[in-house]
Amino acid sequence: MAKQLVVFCTNYRQELENLNLPGSYDDIDVVYFPNHCGMPPVEWAKIQEKMPDFSDYNELHVVSCGGITGLPENQAIADRYYSNDFKQCYRLIINPDLADYYIQKGYYLVTPGWLAHWRDILDSWGFDQPTAINFFEETIRTILLLDTAVDPAAEANLEEFARYVGRPHEVVKVGIDYLKLLLGNRVLKSRVDSSCQDEKNKLAEKQKEFADLAMALDLLNTLARVSHEESVLESIKTIFQMLFAPRDVVFRATDQAVPPGEPTILNDADSFTLLMQGSSGLLGYLDIIGVNQPRFLAQYRKLADRIVNVCGLAIDNARHYQKIKNLADTDGLTGIANRRKLEEHLAEEWRRLFREKKPLTVMMCDIDYFKRYNDFYGHQAGDDCLKTVAAVLAGHSQRSGDLAARYGGEEFTLVLPAVDREGAAKLAEKIRQDVEALEMNHEDSPISSYVTLSIGVDCQVPTAESTVENLVAAADGALYKAKAAGRNRVVVS
Ligand code: GH3
Ligand code: MG
Ligand code: MG
Repeated sequence: MAKQLVVFCTNYRQELENLNLPGSYDDIDVVYFPNHCGMPPVEWAKIQEKMPDFSDYNELHVVSCGGITGLPENQAIADRYYSNDFKQCYRLIINPDLADYYIQKGYYLVTPGWLAHWRDILDSWGFDQPTAINFFEETIRTILLLDTAVDPAAEANLEEFARYVGRPHEVVKVGIDYLKLLLGNRVLKSRVDSSCQDEKNKLAEKQKEFADLAMALDLLNTLARVSHEESVLESIKTIFQMLFAPRDVVFRATDQAVPPGEPTILNDADSFTLLMQGSSGLLGYLDIIGVNQPRFLAQYRKLADRIVNVCGLAIDNARHYQKIKNLADTDGLTGIANRRKLEEHLAEEWRRLFREKKPLTVMMCDIDYFKRYNDFYGHQAGDDCLKTVAAVLAGHSQRSGDLAARYGGEEFTLVLPAVDREGAAKLAEKIRQDVEALEMNHEDSPISSYVTLSIGVDCQVPTAESTVENLVAAADGALYKAKAAGRNRVVVS
């Protein structure tokens, strides 16, 4: 609750105590400063001495009759300081129009608090009795007590004072309703102001949350376009970097080797761990370490919880994409790359080696007399033979950029980047020997007791004039020559 501290002249202590503030206005506390009727305005420094710890309050209202000099030096207090100067103290207990009416009629208005100190006040004015009589005779018809009915001595004080200055007196019972109304107004206005401020703060917070979400959504959109798991993870880290500016973002996949025991879950003043769920369960832990503004941690967690599942789905997506892509790239029988993948890979490597000005080797490999093999041993044995030869070729394409593919039927292609003609010739011969050395019986082969391979090789450094199709055709031409020259051999174009 927004609390207010009201600073009042001690002359009104009895009235305020009778207002029963704790019952009607729980959010008000009152402190009093000494009355200074007829004397110069009170200095703030004097009031400050009486102040309780101000940090408990939202507003400080100083109610004075004649002003306060000086302002709080403490900025925290100065920012919440409101001065309410009523000029004359009777204006706190009756309507100003009514006060003016009485004054016009020649009344001198006094309050019970004022009357309690009337001697001191005349003293402070420097009035002895004759001066006072003279003063009041000239200007005043009647002394009028605005009786708030809280001070039993008020009427006796009035009579004493009136007798002293030689003027008649009257009493009007004003009670404390007007004072109550004044204070009530003040309090209600503050309550409205502070609840308006609360609403404004809430709105600002919502707006910030909305902006964060919009940004997160925008970033998440980019995830949908990323298809490699590693890139998805990089993008996820970037998203969290942009949202919370942490020192680090670490992903611990559940399928990676984890230390034994319970996984670490961060839950500090500036770090937290998110559980990333995919469609098939927990994918891993995402540690957000050392956010830049820990005071927003609760908001960060809320936002992070909302987006982490989308991140999980993005990883799922990437994995599915990779599976489908692998299926689409693989030859069903031999498990090595298919013709589609071969063509994609050839084009990529051609472009890359064109930039790097390095050679690209293509080998076309064809099993000799394979129709006869099929006819002799049966189609199933033919399939097994294809698998065995494919495995040999795959074993010779282990470096990055190497690819063994099934070109079609019993024909295979090997793509070997950055291998020169000489190296390629040696490797082809090695492959040919390896297949022969398997000693797969081929009784119906006119040239050997075993399955053999013919290989055509070409090697080119890509240029703007040549094409990759050209390279493949040249290797194919070399293969044709190998066949024509008696098979089971390597021909380099
Ligand atoms: P060459 O020495 O001139 O290459 O003679 P070849 O018999 O190997 O060549 P040809 O092109 O005449 O025959 C290829 C044979 O490969 C025909 C076909 O029966 C067989 N073949 C193609 N695909 C498959 C397959 O997936 N499985 C099996 N078992 N055989 C296949
Ligand atoms: Mg053949
Ligand atoms: Mg063939």
